[in-house]
Amino acid sequence: MRGVYAMARKVSVSVDHDICVGNAMCVTIATNAFQLNDDRQSTPANPDGDTEELIMEAAENCPVSAITITDAITGEQLFP
Ligand code: SF4
Repeated sequence: MRGVYAMARKVSVSVDHDICVGNAMCVTIATNAFQLNDDRQSTPANPDGDTEELIMEAAENCPVSAITITDAITGEQLFP
């Protein structure tokens, strides 16, 4: 039997720097999970700092689909 409280799934985030155009959309949506580096490209920061929903939204709104999200435990690809 499962517990009453649903545990938040741990996700892991990666950004493809070959295609990130640095428009900071992901940083604007998931302010803790992403940050811009010195080259103005998005880098995963603290994936635990935002909800999975928010991180998914950030990935969905990336104009060049540079963001990949996986389940940190199982490795299952969650996005795209
Ligand atoms: S939304 Fe996409 S293109 Fe824009 S900074 Fe984030 S990863 Fe890069």
